[in-house]
Amino acid sequence: MASGRTGAPADPTVRVRFCPSPTGNPHVGLVRTALFNWAFARHHGGTLVFRIEDTDAARDSEDSYGQLLDAMRWLGLDWDEGPEVGGPHAPYRQSQRTEVYADVARRLHEAGHAYRCYCSTEELDARREAARAAGKPSGYDGHCRDLTDDRIAVFELAGREPILRFRMPDRTIAFDDLVRGTLSFEPENVPDYGIVRANGAPLYTLVNPVDDALMGITHVLRGEDLLSSTPRQIALYAALADIGVGDGTTPRFGHLPYVMGEGNKKLSKRDPEASLNLYRERGFIPEGLLNYLSLLGWSIAEDRDVFTVDELVAAFDIGKVNANPARFDLKKCEAVNAEHVRRLAPEDFARRLVPYLRSAGLLPAEPTAAQLELLAKVAPLTQERMVVLGEIVPMAGFLFVAPEDFAVDPEDAAKVLTADTRPVLEAGVRALEALDDFTPEPIQAALRGALVDGLGIKPKFAFTPLRVAVSGRRISPPLFESMELLGRSETLRRLRAALAALPAA
Ligand code: GLU
Ligand code: ZN
Repeated sequence: MASGRTGAPADPTVRVRFCPSPTGNPHVGLVRTALFNWAFARHHGGTLVFRIEDTDAARDSEDSYGQLLDAMRWLGLDWDEGPEVGGPHAPYRQSQRTEVYADVARRLHEAGHAYRCYCSTEELDARREAARAAGKPSGYDGHCRDLTDDRIAVFELAGREPILRFRMPDRTIAFDDLVRGTLSFEPENVPDYGIVRANGAPLYTLVNPVDDALMGITHVLRGEDLLSSTPRQIALYAALADIGVGDGTTPRFGHLPYVMGEGNKKLSKRDPEASLNLYRERGFIPEGLLNYLSLLGWSIAEDRDVFTVDELVAAFDIGKVNANPARFDLKKCEAVNAEHVRRLAPEDFARRLVPYLRSAGLLPAEPTAAQLELLAKVAPLTQERMVVLGEIVPMAGFLFVAPEDFAVDPEDAAKVLTADTRPVLEAGVRALEALDDFTPEPIQAALRGALVDGLGIKPKFAFTPLRVAVSGRRISPPLFESMELLGRSETLRRLRAALAALPAA
């Protein structure tokens, strides 16, 4: 897709995955993870696998699944294998792969890499407390590692239902993180962990590495919050290789930095400002959002904040991701978006405004040719000043609204349309009534002549009441162009309505 690659040479054998759990709404942290995986895959000409980790029936939802796919499509982050496109490792929804996990779990158990743990929650809690009190590591203590057949028989007779627990090897686990360098974990800090629930449901701890192994994933790029599961997964990989699941290679891992929000607190997926839908509704465009989110931990060059997605792909280098927490800066996100809005081709910009006008009730489902023509004329008047596309509604809604629905902002009216503006509005009406050519230059000349020269009013005081009367607000696109688009009769009607509504002197 892109040329001029930098950094490490392209490697088309790269296989990465984006594997969210469908819970809640997509959030910016998730999008950043998706983006870095996508950019890494595209940079190398490799493969992006989109996998849905929906093994937690209590938390997963179809609605959230639909939103994930919709978000990826809206952002333009395409995938090579996964829902709807299929692929050699289908199905890509873990809820449809139950037999795969049951089979792997059974083989891990048979080979001794996993064992049945009969401990009750109460027993685990009590021993954890005791270990804590004694100042010892408080993770699982290996109680059921080597139960005798007799003990097992007793537990079974008592009707205890075991979970399946993975047996961690008794060795230091070290790996070279693509972002954080060499990391190592001592066995006492990585206890044996559950992989299958007592009811037979496989856990994230099992299904995630099993699918990574089966799907030939070469690089795991994910949030730092998952760092503690990496030594466990590396050990599980070795066990999978031992029983012949996957091709025996362990992926490289790269843990992406935390994203901090307001007040230097970790941005949580529950924070409203983390919700992707919020940015979509406000009218951020994918180009702007992707550009900004790529800056959360990465940069294309010093002093360069704005670039296209193709430039991002060409330059993306996981080795250049910064391990330090990144700060989500809304102001900067808006500034980057505004720049991408300005860069849109005018017709493209106009086309993208339609949904916002539509959901405000300013355009029908099927706009007429006249409405689209008006939109094409409004677009260049607003494009330069817009941060997010939703601003088209307050900014230019007055040009689309039906005459009977037009209303002046009450606050602006109270401030600006005071009794002493009567002469201004009256002179404005007279000047425009007499005008033959209702286009911006003559409109401006006529109004200047009548108000600035005629009444001796400073332009600011002359034009602000007209602006509020005609556009409904103190801030609007250029006034004379707006009047032209409204047309003479509607412009005059609004000016006369404002006159009629003026408070008594
Ligand atoms: N389903 C996991 C999550 O959404 C994926 C974690 C991973 O990338 O390994 O947190
Ligand atoms: Zn146990």
